[in-house]
Amino acid sequence: MATLTTHPDCVPLVSYRFGKGATNIDKYLELDGYKSARKAMELGPDAIIAEMKTSNLRGRGGAGFPTGMKWSFVPKQSAKPKYVLVNGDESEPGTCKDRLIFEHDPHAVIEGVIIAALAIQAKMGFIYLRGEYRYLIEIMEKAVADAYARGFLGKKIFGSDFDLDVVVQTGAGAYEVGEESALMESLEGKRGIPRIRPPFPAVVGLYGGPTIINNAETIATVPHIFRIGAAEYAKLGTERNGGTRLFCLSGHLVRPGVYELPMGYNLKKMIYEVGGGIPNGKKLKAVVPGGSSTPVLTADEIDIGMDFDQVGKAGSMLGSGGVVVLDETVCMVEFALRTMKFYQHESCGWCIPCREGTDWLKKSLTRLHAGGGVDKDIDNIRYLAENMLGRTFCPLGDAAAMPTIAFVKKFRKEFEDHLEGRGCPKHRAAEPEPALV
Ligand code: SF4
Repeated sequence: MATLTTHPDCVPLVSYRFGKGATNIDKYLELDGYKSARKAMELGPDAIIAEMKTSNLRGRGGAGFPTGMKWSFVPKQSAKPKYVLVNGDESEPGTCKDRLIFEHDPHAVIEGVIIAALAIQAKMGFIYLRGEYRYLIEIMEKAVADAYARGFLGKKIFGSDFDLDVVVQTGAGAYEVGEESALMESLEGKRGIPRIRPPFPAVVGLYGGPTIINNAETIATVPHIFRIGAAEYAKLGTERNGGTRLFCLSGHLVRPGVYELPMGYNLKKMIYEVGGGIPNGKKLKAVVPGGSSTPVLTADEIDIGMDFDQVGKAGSMLGSGGVVVLDETVCMVEFALRTMKFYQHESCGWCIPCREGTDWLKKSLTRLHAGGGVDKDIDNIRYLAENMLGRTFCPLGDAAAMPTIAFVKKFRKEFEDHLEGRGCPKHRAAEPEPALV
């Protein structure tokens, strides 16, 4: 699944160099590499940020915050060093795009760091890979070493007066560290749990210095914005949602894969034309549009453009671009349970609504799925999830609660069937799991 797949509607921009040997720095240079960093150097900080704002690039990690605006929050003067931090802790179930960037185009990440560092005048950048991507560290470290050898990193980069060091770091394998403040804690060598905010990282971030933190795809997109021009980039997408993004299509599809498509691309078309539709003549039941933390859409709700605003209007989120397609054979109670097992396992345990909430939701869903449910279970599941919303220190609590509420609301009949039929229709012959105590 984690391979770049193409379709005539794909626009190769971030994926422009995939499969062309661009891990080799000479090949990268042949393919317009490091030209954008030189261009940015001539422009200077204010013009770089203005270009980023014009591009309408929004963060590809999930929240969709406008990147240019994020960079503009960093104070010009700072007593403490400033930092650029690349969030490569890609862990959202259904999402497998950043790994392709690290694997095929590591220099684009480095070049993006250089441009971001020029914009905020940072002298230090970190590229943080999730623990499970340890196998990619060699590629990234070699790319960084090659960039140093060519004078693109280190002292007086590109023969200028600007110094920039970049370090590659891996995590220990925690979903929670994808949250930006937990990421900084982890990078500082501490337990990866979030910080209370404000202050926000743009003002008080890594080691207390102003920091911009961007997802790996966001950063790797930056050189392409300067390569084709910010206005051209913006035009590829929709209003307030510039450019393209890597969509990860998985689940019940004829052609799952990672596709680069314009922002705003129609979801129905994405499933039936790009992904080839549902295999074996089955019907579509539901779609998780942006990774496991985004509320599910029913088969009737997919005629929408895939950008942050349109998916938001449809009651879900574009998230990390992980589109998970479920056919009619999927038990939604089982799917809700699997989703909750993940969040319960990944909760860092720091705050009670998330620590207790995910655990009780997992227990209740387990009991209901296994046939030991009681009358109030369905309402209690929804009540519990609704009471987690907005009451946790970091978005993981919401990430667990939001999909659960949507599963119960949109597929209540399936939950009731489990109650009345004493268990999952798919597994009635199986042994029920232990009752909730
Ligand atoms: Fe930890 Fe969950 Fe609270 Fe986030 S919401 S701080 S993961 S316990």
